[in-house]
Amino acid sequence: MTPPPNSLEARDIAVQVHAAVDHRLYEETGGLVIEEGEGIYVFDNTGKKYIEGLAGLWSVAVGFGEPRLVEAATRQMSKLPYYHIFNYKTHGPSVELAEKLIEISPEHLTKVHFTSSGSEANDLVVKMIWYRSNALGKPAKKKILSRLKAYHGVTIASGSITGIPANHTSFDLPLERMKHTLTPDYPREKLEGESEPEFSARMAKALEDLILAEGPETIAAMFAEPVMGAGGVIVPPEGYWAAIQAVLKKYDILLVADEVICGFGRTGQMFASQTYGITPDVMVTSKQISSSYMPLSAILMSEEFFAPIADESHRLGIFGHGYTASGHPVATAVGLENLKIIEERDLVGNAARLSPQFLGRLKALEEHPLGLWSRGVGLIGAIELAPGATPGATGRAVQAAMLEEGVIARAIGDALCFCPPLIITAEQIDAMFDAVTRALDTVA
Ligand code: PLP
Repeated sequence: MTPPPNSLEARDIAVQVHAAVDHRLYEETGGLVIEEGEGIYVFDNTGKKYIEGLAGLWSVAVGFGEPRLVEAATRQMSKLPYYHIFNYKTHGPSVELAEKLIEISPEHLTKVHFTSSGSEANDLVVKMIWYRSNALGKPAKKKILSRLKAYHGVTIASGSITGIPANHTSFDLPLERMKHTLTPDYPREKLEGESEPEFSARMAKALEDLILAEGPETIAAMFAEPVMGAGGVIVPPEGYWAAIQAVLKKYDILLVADEVICGFGRTGQMFASQTYGITPDVMVTSKQISSSYMPLSAILMSEEFFAPIADESHRLGIFGHGYTASGHPVATAVGLENLKIIEERDLVGNAARLSPQFLGRLKALEEHPLGLWSRGVGLIGAIELAPGATPGATGRAVQAAMLEEGVIARAIGDALCFCPPLIITAEQIDAMFDAVTRALDTVA
């Protein structure tokens, strides 16, 4: 339905270029105007209330309308709204958040650099890896591995690492240095009679074959989300991370854990690297770091990763990188307060405690006529639906029906993906899945 003239929807169509839409379709339909948020709920401009089943973009851990984050931002805005970390300057909020991140992250990660988004962070990690290879006198060691269906962002480098066709097609990204290996999607890709450990061994073998085909001396790093998010919530099968890490170690290839979605409690532990026994050289975080109240991302790295980069900057006289907003004082102050809330309210524990109920409700949807298989860990999960006439048609129809029922969640293909705020309660999980079941009934 075309929005009425002069409505916010119509004005939006007239002036704003949106993300992740068919622009021509958007001109006809416009978007849903979200006006307010409170707890796990958001409200549109007609006052209709929705459960935000994806926490915005997998990010609003502490929920909407958290006054402590407003106060932290206001305090910092009044004291020092902006300063930078260029040219031998620093400021308290960035130092304090870096210290906090080092305190709560795996022990070997001891240095932090701030950026403003997941894409920027991954983009910079690629640059740092290339800079480091040069510093180590290994200029041929530049290729980057990732997986098909991986999502690492949309800048030129991070978009190239991303393994989703929609993020590549027609963008002419320079993919030459980026190589994609198989997706560990066990339920979909397993062979007849293949166990999870056998499947994981096959994934590791495919990775090793790719490395040998490319030449191990040309490969610098592999980027990977511990649990793949935007590719459709793909949970690693048993033995996967041990097998993959053994291959990377064998060929001296760095591992970058992209914890942009997983970090800060999503899996029921502070980081998914802990959940899956991953020892990354670099860990990229964003989203729940500030509950997305402010744009913020943080790259955590080991001393061994950082040292050659520091030496190279000394040789050249400068590390020729930095953004105006790197370590932004208001963003880092909000990030620190957000992490304090996550700790004080034990939101990581909440995710762990409510996970069986959350995953149980997803599993129960397998019994619905439209349900195929469910998957998840902590408070992130998905239910795969039977495809309709065209791939994604069922997903889109159920997503629309869920909106009617007052639930916002993301259909990726025919998978309904959920990633609610970490503050969600047992009653709210039930209310969300009751509404989802009604939506499924409407479409079935
Ligand atoms: N990495 C992962 C795993 C993500 O899920 C995302 C975004 O969803 C990104 C990177 C990119 O982050 P941003 O959208 O902040 O650039």
